[in-house]
Amino acid sequence: MIDVIIIGAGASGLVTAIVAARRGKKVLVLEKNNKVGKKLLATGNGKCNITNQKPYLNRFYSQNSSFIEQSLDTYNYQTIKQFFKSIGLELIEAKEGKVFPMSLQASSVVELLLCECEQLGIKILCDKEVKTILKQNNGYEVKHNSGKVTASKLVIATGHLSAPQLGGVDDGLNFAKRLGHTFIKPFPSLVQLTSSHKESYLKQMAGVKVEGRVIIETQKGIIEKQGDVLFTNYGISGLAILDISRFVMEELLQKKSIMLIIDLIPKMSHGQLLALMKKSLVKKSSKPLKVWMQGFINKKLIRPILEPLKLQNETVGSITSNIKELEKIVDGIKAFKFTVNGSKGYKGAEVATGGINTKEINPKTMESKLHKGVYFTGEVLDVDGDRGGFNLHFAWVCGLRAGESI
Ligand SMILES: Cc1cc2nc3c(=O)[nH]c(=O)nc-3n(C[C@H](O)[C@H](O)[C@H](O)COP(=O)(O)OP(=O)(O)OC[C@H]3O[C@@H](n4cnc5c(N)ncnc54)[C@H](O)[C@@H]3O)c2cc1C
Repeated sequence: MIDVIIIGAGASGLVTAIVAARRGKKVLVLEKNNKVGKKLLATGNGKCNITNQKPYLNRFYSQNSSFIEQSLDTYNYQTIKQFFKSIGLELIEAKEGKVFPMSLQASSVVELLLCECEQLGIKILCDKEVKTILKQNNGYEVKHNSGKVTASKLVIATGHLSAPQLGGVDDGLNFAKRLGHTFIKPFPSLVQLTSSHKESYLKQMAGVKVEGRVIIETQKGIIEKQGDVLFTNYGISGLAILDISRFVMEELLQKKSIMLIIDLIPKMSHGQLLALMKKSLVKKSSKPLKVWMQGFINKKLIRPILEPLKLQNETVGSITSNIKELEKIVDGIKAFKFTVNGSKGYKGAEVATGGINTKEINPKTMESKLHKGVYFTGEVLDVDGDRGGFNLHFAWVCGLRAGESI
């Protein structure tokens, strides 16, 4: 006799299974993929940024912020660290509060979770895609592609639409809808952005990577992110872009396009750069501006800076007599304008925003307020986080809370 059926052998499902089994429950996990933790294996570029030392509330997003506050509450970095220690996985701390497995391998996270499941007698069946959930008198009947099972408790740990190539689907939302839950419409986040600029303009810059600062003006105020910015033939990518993508995508729900302002040399102030460039000007020099600028910035970015200023064919000599032109060039570098109009979609996204309305979920237990015995964990809920270990942090917290409650 099974006590708990868990749908989804991903991050939150596996932790729920372990915690519930440690408390004596008989657990069955159904996974539609041919192996366990496929998405988990891809996290942190295969290193798994497993959590963050500073899981502050402002690193998470939901329509219902009190849910985040109450669910994270006392479940902090130490709680997660202790759990992983209990399965034999040591963690190491890196910059920006990021935390990784000591092995720096996502595969060790999956293998140690799996080994713990085996030792606790948890049954995990792969290639079992759950199709329907039916409420019965004293539990739930779950139909999958090759049979059906029943249990008094059910955990929906099915993740969300991000990375469909790794199994990302919205099955969990569909199950929830049929159970009467409402949900917040999702969009891809932590994702590369596409641009409406001319193909030739994009081709010109493709492959250039700078350590930049990206700024956007949103209805909620100015948002700024610093880090790698990579120009590509479809638009723009890099860590700073992934970080700002959530805010861009939110704006794009109402606008066709949004302008990114990119500081291509954030290490210098406008004044410092102006002074440096001014010093290297030589009166009456016939040196082409586009060659002179290579002393300061990647060659491929020069045409997109000079062309809008109509300076592409000018010489250094011509701007020494008109310092206003030099100021415009510095503006072009410190506030480079790049229009974006969409994203690479769920396929490129690390996370999907939105999900099951958390007003319908108990934040301390992850149990549905509409159906006793049904639990929702992880990305399927309307909670998403910044890059840096916050999404997995939330998945682990859900798993611990649901497992303890079950
Ligand atoms: C490329 C990439 C890198 C990432 N890197 C990081 C990182 O370094 N740090 C971080 O914090 N976050 C990272 N994330 C996000 C993180 O992986 C997710 O937030 C997290 O895995 C969500 O956990 P979950 O338990 O909700 O869902 P998942 O881990 O996605 O697990 C859900 C499981 O349910 C299964 N399933 C779905 N529907 C059914 C069904 N009908 N029947 C049976 N099984 C089903 C799926 O196949 C899947 O195995 C990354 C995401 C991606 C895509």
